[in-house]
Amino acid sequence: MIKILVNGASGRMGRAMASKILLENDMEIVAAVDVKGAGADIGISTGNPATGVLVEDNLEAAIKRTNPEVMLDFTNPQAVMKNIRTALSNGVACVVGTTGLSESDLKEADDLARANKTPIFVASNFAISAVLMMRFAAEAVKYMPNFEIVETHDSHKLDAPSGTAMTTAKMMCANREVFSQESPNSFELLPGCRGGDYQGARIHSIRVPGVISLQDCIFGAPGQLLTIRAESTNAECFYPGVAMALRKVLELEGLTFGLDKLL
Ligand code: NAP
Repeated sequence: MIKILVNGASGRMGRAMASKILLENDMEIVAAVDVKGAGADIGISTGNPATGVLVEDNLEAAIKRTNPEVMLDFTNPQAVMKNIRTALSNGVACVVGTTGLSESDLKEADDLARANKTPIFVASNFAISAVLMMRFAAEAVKYMPNFEIVETHDSHKLDAPSGTAMTTAKMMCANREVFSQESPNSFELLPGCRGGDYQGARIHSIRVPGVISLQDCIFGAPGQLLTIRAESTNAECFYPGVAMALRKVLELEGLTFGLDKLL
C-alpha cells in the first residue's frame, strides 16, 4: 500500500484524483489537505463512501500525524514551493501537478530532493495526449521551424502561459535555431496581442470559462500549414499518468520532470 497525502484535496484536480485513488487496491489516502473545506470527509466529497480521512489545513501537522510516503500536490502556483519544501524536508516524496514552477523552483526542488534523499516528480501535463503532442511537435519543428502555440484554459487558471505550453516551447526550441519570426517592420496596435516571445516563437494564452485544457501547435511553411492539437475534455484523462507517477516516484532520485520520463 502506498500511503498518499492529497494536497489541494478540495480543488477540482485534488477531488478528481482522490476519487480514483480511493478505488485502488495498492494505494491508500492517509491525509487530505486544503486551505478550504476543512472537516469534509475525502470519501464523501468525492462521491465515495466515507473514509474517516477529513480535509485539514495544516500540511506539516498532517504529515507528522499520518506519516505519508507521497504527497500529491494540485494546489496553486503561489503555494506549491512551500508545500514541496515542507514535504521533502519531512522525507515525503512528491508528485506535483501544480503548474507555474520556474526553472529556479525546479532547481531548488532538485537540490532539496537530493539533500533529503527523497524524490520528487513534476509534470506540467499528466495526459498522454499532451505528452504525445509535445513529442510530435518537437519532431515537426525540425522540418517546419516557424510555429506558434495557442493554449486555452478555464478563466480560473492563474499562470500564463500554461506549464504545458512552456514545456512544449522548450522542447521545440531545443530542436531549432533561435530566430525571430516577426517581419522587421511589424508592430502591435494593441500591446501584447502578438503573445509572449519564447526564443522567437510566440505563445498565446486564452482564458475563457468552460474549458479544461486545449493546445494547438501551429506550424507554417510556404503553401502549407500543420496543426497538432491536444485537448482534455475531462479531468479523468490525467489520472492514468498521475497513478503511474504515484507508483513509480519512490524508485526515482532527485527531481524527475515530465511524464515522458516514466513511459
Ligand atoms: P483548484 O480547483 O483551484 O484547486 C486548488 C485547490 O488548492 C483549491 O481548493 C485551493 O484553495 C487549494 N489551495 C490553495 N493554496 C493551498 C495551500 N497552500 N495548501 C493547500 N491547498 C491550497 O485548481 P485545479 O483546477 O484543481 O488545479 C490545481 C493546479 O493543477 C493548477 O496549478 C493547475 O494548473 C494544475 N493542473 C495540472 C494538470 C497536470 O496535468 N499537471 C492538470 C490540471 C491542472 P483556494 O481555492 O481557496 O485557493
